[in-house]
Amino acid sequence: MANAEIVAIGSELLLGQIVDTNSTWMAQRLTALGVNLFYKSVVGDNPERMKEVLTRALERADVVITSGGLGPTQDDLTREVVAEVTGRKLVLNPHFLEQIERRFRTRGFIMTPNNERQAYMPAGATPVDNPNGTAPSFIVEDSRGSIFVLPGVPFELKWLFDNEVAPYLRRKFSLSEIISYRVLKVAELGESRVDDLMGHLIANSRNPTVGVLAHPGQVDIRIAAKAASREAALELIAPVEAEVRQLIGKHVFAVDEETIENAVGTLLREKQQTIAVCEDLTGGMIADRLQEADTERFVEGITSNGQTSLRRLLAFSRQSNRIEELWSEPQMLANELALAVRAQAGSDLGLAVYSIPDLTDQSENLARGQTFMAITDGKGFKVRHYNMAGRGRPDRTRMSFNALALVRLALMEGMA
Ligand code: ATP
Ligand code: MG
Repeated sequence: MANAEIVAIGSELLLGQIVDTNSTWMAQRLTALGVNLFYKSVVGDNPERMKEVLTRALERADVVITSGGLGPTQDDLTREVVAEVTGRKLVLNPHFLEQIERRFRTRGFIMTPNNERQAYMPAGATPVDNPNGTAPSFIVEDSRGSIFVLPGVPFELKWLFDNEVAPYLRRKFSLSEIISYRVLKVAELGESRVDDLMGHLIANSRNPTVGVLAHPGQVDIRIAAKAASREAALELIAPVEAEVRQLIGKHVFAVDEETIENAVGTLLREKQQTIAVCEDLTGGMIADRLQEADTERFVEGITSNGQTSLRRLLAFSRQSNRIEELWSEPQMLANELALAVRAQAGSDLGLAVYSIPDLTDQSENLARGQTFMAITDGKGFKVRHYNMAGRGRPDRTRMSFNALALVRLALMEGMA
C-alpha cells in the first residue's frame, strides 16, 4: 500500500495564528483513497528547516504533498526549496507565465516582477494548472519519491487535490480499493458504556474496522470498510451496522452527517408537536439547538441563571402554593418548570433543565453538581438526572445535547 506524507508550510501555522485545516482535510481524503498517512509535519518559512523536513519526508514516503508557500512574496520559499532538495534548477515555465499575465490583464491589475516568480518551477517538473488562483502547482518525480506541491489557500488546495492529486495517486499506485465508512451517533451512553457493549467488535474487527470517538454527550461509532467500490464497502458494513444497532438500540440517533437537531426536527414535524424550553445554566444553548431543529415548532425559550426568572415562571405552576417546598425537591421543581413553560407558551411540549452547580468546582469540563431535566406533554413526564452541572462551554454543550436527546426519546416513546 502506498504511503504519503503531508508537509504544511507557513510560519503562521507555527505561531498559532491559523489552524492547519489543510492537513486534516487531506488526511481524510487520503484515508478514503486507501493511501497510508504515517507522518504529517508543519514547518515555518525557513529554508534550512524546510529542506530538512522535505528530505526526510522524501526518504520515507512514496508521495510527499506540500501545502503553502507558493505565493509571490519573498517568504514564499517552497519552489526554491523543492528545487534544491531534488537537485534541480528553477526554470521559467512560459505557459505559467502566460497564464499569470492573462489573469492580471483580464482583471486590469498591473503585474509586478515578483508575480513572475510564480511562473518558475524546478526543471523537469510536471506543471499542474490551478484555475482558482495565481500560484501554479507542480509535481517533481525523484528517485526517492514524488513531491506534489499545492498552494495553501484552502479552496485552491481542495480543488487541486480532488481533480489532480487523487487521480494521480489512483493511476500511480493502481489504487483499486477505497475506504468508505458510516458513522452511527449515540446519545445517553458514555464512551466506556459503549465500549462495554461492543468492545469485542472494536477489538476483533478487520474489515470493516470499528472505532469509537467521544464528544461532549455524544459517542460516534465509525464502521470503515475497504473494498473496490463504495457499494461493495457498504455491503461489508451493513451486517456490522446491524450488530451495532442490536447492541446499542434506540440510542443511535443519527447516521453520518445527520445531527441531533436534525433528528429532533424530523420528529417534531412527524408528530406535529411544538415545544418551549426553560433552561438553567446552559445560557440559551438548548433554545439555539431547538431553533436549529425546527424554527417553526420551537415556540419560546427562557434562559435563567439563578432563581429570579424561575420564580417568575412558577407563577404559572399548578402548585404555586407549595413553591418554597419545591426548592428542596429539585426533580419535582424541574417537572413544575416544564409544566409552567408549556402553559405560558401554549406549546404542546414543555422542557425544563434545572441545575445545581457545585460552586467550589471551577472545572471547565465535567464539573460537579446536579442537573435535573423534565419534558412533559401536560400529562406525563420523562425525566433525567445527571451528576454534573458545569458552567464551562463543554459542559453546557453536553447538557444541551442531553436535553435534545431527551426530547428525541420523548417524541419517540411518549412520556414516562
Ligand atoms: P498564495 O499565492 O495565495 O500566497 P500560498 O501557496 O503562498 O498561496 P500561503 O501564503 O502559504 O499559500 O497561504 C495562503 C493562505 O492560505 C493563508 O493565509 C491561510 O489563510 C491559508 N492557509 C495556508 N496554509 C494553510 C493550512 N495548512 N491550513 C489552512 N489554511 C491554510
Ligand atoms: Mg503566500
